[in-house]
Amino acid sequence: MTDHQIKKLKTLGKRYARATTMAHTEALNALAMELGCAHWKALTDAVKEGWQPSEDDVAQAEEFVRQAGAKTDVNASHCDASYIDYPAFEEGELCSHHYRIGDYFGDVVVSGKGWELRIPEAPFKAPIVEIDERYAEASPIKDPSFLGKLIEVAQERSARIRAKMAVDWPRRSTKAGLDGVARYPLRRVKASIWYCLSCDAQLTGSQVAENYWHCLSCGTHLLNISAEPFDDQLPGKPVQTPDTTQRERPEVRIVEPKLTLHLYEETVATLIRCALLEDATSVNERLGAMRAGISLLDGKEVWITLDEMLWPEDKEPTSALAVAKKLGLEVEQELSLFSEPFAWPDLGAMTQDTAEFAETLLKAYEERGVIKR
Ligand SMILES: [Zn+2]
Repeated sequence: MTDHQIKKLKTLGKRYARATTMAHTEALNALAMELGCAHWKALTDAVKEGWQPSEDDVAQAEEFVRQAGAKTDVNASHCDASYIDYPAFEEGELCSHHYRIGDYFGDVVVSGKGWELRIPEAPFKAPIVEIDERYAEASPIKDPSFLGKLIEVAQERSARIRAKMAVDWPRRSTKAGLDGVARYPLRRVKASIWYCLSCDAQLTGSQVAENYWHCLSCGTHLLNISAEPFDDQLPGKPVQTPDTTQRERPEVRIVEPKLTLHLYEETVATLIRCALLEDATSVNERLGAMRAGISLLDGKEVWITLDEMLWPEDKEPTSALAVAKKLGLEVEQELSLFSEPFAWPDLGAMTQDTAEFAETLLKAYEERGVIKR
């Protein structure tokens, strides 16, 4: 087994194991099967009897390993052994439907008109389908056959991304040892039990390694996974690995369009308050605008309540009224009792300059009251 070609196959087997997070022996078997042997042992037996893999066999093995996302140049130095073929943003067509496919922090996202499919980086997490509610009736992604094909396309890209991570990380980060010990990808920490700092779940070394360091319970990423529990007294409960059906059945959600303006009370109040500040001239009026009560009734009528001492009773908030009109809202105005943000409400009515007001206010409190910090 000293032959150059066999050595090359062994190295390719290692790379394949790394990229697919397979056990080394399994990877060698897969490679041997690719070359027509029943398993690796059969291949080495054949070599003992004088068989040698040809240049074509090695090329075929290289292609097989490259497809898994691993680097195949066996002469490259170890530190250079990272992924070569990082997938870029692409466009495509499937069953005459146009789609765009790209990566988003390890997730693969495929999108078309009014739909989006996401394959999470965590292998234990099911694909997520989001359909814009405007297209919910006739969306092609509701067709299980189209969705199935699309998932295949996305899974293929996802496998390449995971292969890149597996190649970049230490071997024990994606495949726990027989003792269940996994190595944290970013530091030299090894453990067989890990803890999620976000949800307190307890994870085995194999679980975190297989799930690319995402929590199986809450899905958080590796920065929130630790070998030490957040609280020694409450180390959390072990989590079940989801079964194949749970992992494969896509989660379909009907969602509202990303660009949706909700004219709820909060949004309306923000716009009206912004306009009141535009209407305000003195310090008091600005304080009045900031402290005004703004509420929306039945989505049709906006009530603006201004402080009697901060906002002059006869002053029309013209900008606020104009905003309400644009929003198609009726306006009701009322006055409330003085809410006393500061003593001596007259001080703020006399100036437009907040610094000047603050100075006068401080002086008055120093002379007649107390200032605490
Ligand atoms: Zn968690």
